[in-house]
Amino acid sequence: LRMLGIETSCDETAASVVALDESGTPKILSNVVLSQIEDHAAFGGVVPEIAARAHVEALDGIVASALDEAGVSVDDLDGIAATAGPGLIGGLIVGLMTAKAIAAASGKPLVAVNHLEGHALTARLTDGVEFPYLLLLVSGGHTQVILVRGVGDYERWATTIDDALGEAFDKTAKLVGLPYPGGPNVERAAREGDASRFSFPRPLRGEARLDFSFSGLKTAVRQAATAIAPLSDQDVADICASFQRAITETLEERVGKSLSRFREIYPDIDDPALVVAGGVAANKAIRETLDRLCGKHAMRLVAPPIALCTDNAAMIAWAGLERMRAGMASNDESMSFAPRSRWPLDERASPMIGSGK
Ligand code: ATP
Ligand code: MG
Ligand code: FE
Repeated sequence: LRMLGIETSCDETAASVVALDESGTPKILSNVVLSQIEDHAAFGGVVPEIAARAHVEALDGIVASALDEAGVSVDDLDGIAATAGPGLIGGLIVGLMTAKAIAAASGKPLVAVNHLEGHALTARLTDGVEFPYLLLLVSGGHTQVILVRGVGDYERWATTIDDALGEAFDKTAKLVGLPYPGGPNVERAAREGDASRFSFPRPLRGEARLDFSFSGLKTAVRQAATAIAPLSDQDVADICASFQRAITETLEERVGKSLSRFREIYPDIDDPALVVAGGVAANKAIRETLDRLCGKHAMRLVAPPIALCTDNAAMIAWAGLERMRAGMASNDESMSFAPRSRWPLDERASPMIGSGK
């Protein structure tokens, strides 16, 4: 089977072809990602209208490159998968409508894919992880722990009650004057800093619920930065290091609770895994923390390559293949599916339910 994937939910215009052979082994034939970071950098964040226009301009060329690099034509495909939500509505419309047009013109089936399902299933493409496993999704827009029981079978255990983790990195960067996107810059600055200089809060520490909260941390960073302004390079490094320590300790405590629960529910599975996905998974300090934490719970940390942790279309093509293989892809439903800016993963993953709203 060969699937074309299209991803336009945020600020990456992406297309990819993924193949699945008879033995069930997947292969990424191409994976083309055009980042719009430079279009948005001057504004300190993603501007939806600029994003949608950039997708319109770039998508046809990106799809052509993905087919070209894979050495296939539309005729060789078994389907077309496109992100149908959640995300910025303008971009979703561009991607899904383009996919519908290709599907209609070629007679190939369309699979409308939930972007979060793409993130959730990537570890099966890259590492062949078996169900059930636990997913920690940490990106610019999401901070969730999800129990992945099977294709289309998800249970959300935790979410953020305010800011997403990537957002907290981006806002901290802004507060100390580092450029967008903040995550990598905060991580770099943190390496030169003293993590014990500022004592930032550890939100929700000790609470029985599994959720996350990061807005209090941002407020604490703002207060610290204001109190000592103007900031020297060393001040910036110390704030970033202290912030990152607060984050890693918070994740250790919060995610630890979910791991305990997973082990309670599934005491006997062979190779219990925590999968981490999303752009924040690029952070080395966070990866090391999670790795250690998994060790304590006799679990394995699976972190797909960074290019497949951040937004990409290979994960969308793969989710399309998983759905098709599981008999969970209906062309009629997908062709009439309207893009959804909000679309929680655990609200049954079928695109039929609540379509368009
Ligand atoms: P979503 O997938 O939820 O719609 P998104 O597309 O913004 O959101 P990604 O592209 O997966 O998310 O990730 C981008 C986020 O990851 C940004 O907030 C960025 O600051 C953060 N990030 C990237 N690299 C790092 C890093 N090394 N450390 C911390 N955060 C990082
Ligand atoms: Mg992104
Ligand atoms: Fe994403």
